[in-house]
Amino acid sequence: MLENWEYSKHCIDSTINSVIGLAKGWIRLYNREKSKSKSKVTRKTIYIKNTLFSYKNGVLKISIEPRRRYLEVDLTRHDYLSKDFNSIGGLLLTEGELIITFKKNVKNIEPRGWASFDVNLTNITALINGKIVRYDLKRLYHIHRVYEEKRRRIQKLSNHKPKKAKRLMEKYSRREKNRAKDFMHKLTTKIAEKFGEMESGAILENLKNIKSRVLRKSKNLNRKLSKRNARQFQFMLEYKLKWLGLPVKYVNPTKSSKTCPLCSGSMATYESRLMKCKKCGLVLDRDVVAVLNLQMWGLGVTPKALIARLRAMMEKRLIDQNSHLSIKVYQP
Ligand SMILES: [Zn+2]
Repeated sequence: MLENWEYSKHCIDSTINSVIGLAKGWIRLYNREKSKSKSKVTRKTIYIKNTLFSYKNGVLKISIEPRRRYLEVDLTRHDYLSKDFNSIGGLLLTEGELIITFKKNVKNIEPRGWASFDVNLTNITALINGKIVRYDLKRLYHIHRVYEEKRRRIQKLSNHKPKKAKRLMEKYSRREKNRAKDFMHKLTTKIAEKFGEMESGAILENLKNIKSRVLRKSKNLNRKLSKRNARQFQFMLEYKLKWLGLPVKYVNPTKSSKTCPLCSGSMATYESRLMKCKKCGLVLDRDVVAVLNLQMWGLGVTPKALIARLRAMMEKRLIDQNSHLSIKVYQP
């Protein structure tokens, strides 16, 4: 393969490695009689080992043709990139982007507290330091709706101008993805900063416990979007917290919004977003129920202060009128 090859060797190294990986994966499936079709190259990527590029004064230099052509990327021009890393790991060059792995040696911090999160379509509800906090996602939802409308209009175009329609579709999908990503990055960066100061860990829903097969088949766009939000939020928050040495725990969320946090009785929908316990009569916002349970299950204890407040409210029969507790809403 190296005969008459004018480009750098790492392209070939990487090709061989990915093809070996592809073949091995297929053999594994074949042996388990699970392979349905021949393997195909779906994404063209080159992995660049850390011996095949240089990094000096903030500039990344990747050899394309030995001593003749280089790909240079000035990282100092992208101020959103983290500065406090120890080294750069392997690079992944795809057709449209360069993926850079930053490495940092972190000291794990024993957290002083824990917070739990429940991600929904139009908000993220959290229990932080015994307080219910709500992050508004309506702007993110709006982005998705706007592009959904654009796609619907392009669909009509695709009959008489298929090429143009395809190009527009790709353009708008990319923009939608980027704008949604940008929103989530800003939100998770803010939360991670706050958690760094408070030295708090995070408890998140283990999305693997949600029947993904059912969801994939589900045609409900809103449910799909809210799952996508959850995945992206968790992925970003996790690496940003780990970068600071803070821990992240995953909890099985099954029935987390249907179990009474006071008496473990089962709860049923009361009205719109409210749930009512069939056993003790507690009425509470379903997202609040979820974060309370996630935190209790994740820590194996009860968030005492909050539960005490709920009990007091129940005794005074305040809970029916004021079942949202006091929820702070943040506009990211
Ligand atoms: Zn109850």
